[in-house]
Amino acid sequence: MSPPAATLETVTPVNTGMSFKKDLAVKPLPTAQSKALAELQNQWDSFTFAPIRESQVSRAMTRRYFADLDNYAESDIVIIGAGSCGLSTAYMLGKQRPDLRIAIIEASVSPGGGAWLGGQLFSAMVMRKPAEAFLNELGVPYEDEGDFVVVKHAALFTSTLLSRVLSFPNIKLFNATAVEDLITRPAPTEADPNAVRIAGVVTNWTLVSMHHDDQSCMDPNTINAPLVISTTGHDGPFGAFSVKRLVSMQQLEKLGGMRGLDMRSAEDAIVKRTREVVKGLIVGGMELSEVDGANRMGPTFGAMALSGVKAAEEALKVIDERKAENEY
Ligand SMILES: Cc1cc2nc3c(=O)[nH]c(=O)nc-3n(C[C@H](O)[C@H](O)[C@H](O)COP(=O)(O)OP(=O)(O)OC[C@H]3O[C@@H](n4cnc5c(N)ncnc54)[C@H](O)[C@@H]3O)c2cc1C
Repeated sequence: MSPPAATLETVTPVNTGMSFKKDLAVKPLPTAQSKALAELQNQWDSFTFAPIRESQVSRAMTRRYFADLDNYAESDIVIIGAGSCGLSTAYMLGKQRPDLRIAIIEASVSPGGGAWLGGQLFSAMVMRKPAEAFLNELGVPYEDEGDFVVVKHAALFTSTLLSRVLSFPNIKLFNATAVEDLITRPAPTEADPNAVRIAGVVTNWTLVSMHHDDQSCMDPNTINAPLVISTTGHDGPFGAFSVKRLVSMQQLEKLGGMRGLDMRSAEDAIVKRTREVVKGLIVGGMELSEVDGANRMGPTFGAMALSGVKAAEEALKVIDERKAENEY
């Protein structure tokens, strides 16, 4: 579909009282007819793209992005990290609850986390049964090797999952955006009068986050949400973000630290313990291994998918209660 043609009407921005000419003298562009791909073939000598003015491209992007920033400033659920666990969580939530407004915040330009390759940069992705149930749900083909299945390339899983998640109208992925902090509200209990609940996230462009030490005046943005699901992976420059912050804000005493590799026990532990760690904050995927001191698991990905399924289940158990608590 062709973009709307540039027009010349005068625009008065809301709240500023200023008027400006929306465009320089631009003649309205004719609307191009859509064509089938077959109509293009063998016609390359006469081929030309539909006309465009550069400002139309800018507006097509910025109008949508700023509308999304506006809409998702109050989200129902924020998922931090678009790795295999975060995306699996988003898929399950998007499918079951089209009424929820779900923002995914991903620090990297490219979503997908560590699930574009198998171990040691090999192509194939291994998932132990019964995680193939999630592959069946997505329609990702695999070879059955008895107790485990093998997807021929990890990127087939990640790209399929990503495309499903992005096609949900109630989910917005903000990539190249880092969560820099968590929004908190007092939620004292008898056991801990200083306890808080998590009530959203503090964000910034990742490139800005990386330059706080050498540039000043780069305040962040915020998203309010009654429930945050953190899936930022194991500890590293960006990883285990939320749980490290919980320790520094004295909501967790200390981290257990990821233990040595034991595939068999590690995967069960991650899935079983995926839970609301602090009120308003569910933790899943490898980030959880840092909380509980679970073993690392190496390149087997079933636990990431099923931790996402469990995180969505846990979220739906508490979302109504957290929403009711989220009045300010
Ligand atoms: C080469 C290779 C090596 C591996 N090594 C190990 C290993 O040692 N141990 C192990 O258990 N598994 C390992 N795995 C398996 C696999 O990487 C992980 O199990 C899996 O990727 C973890 O999934 P996740 O969704 O929990 O986190 P990830 O896939 O790591 O995804 C986390 C996402 O969160 C984003 N993120 C982080 N912080 C923030 C923030 N503050 N704001 C916004 N976004 C943020 C990251 O950019 C990332 O996209 C390896 C895989 C490969 C391919």
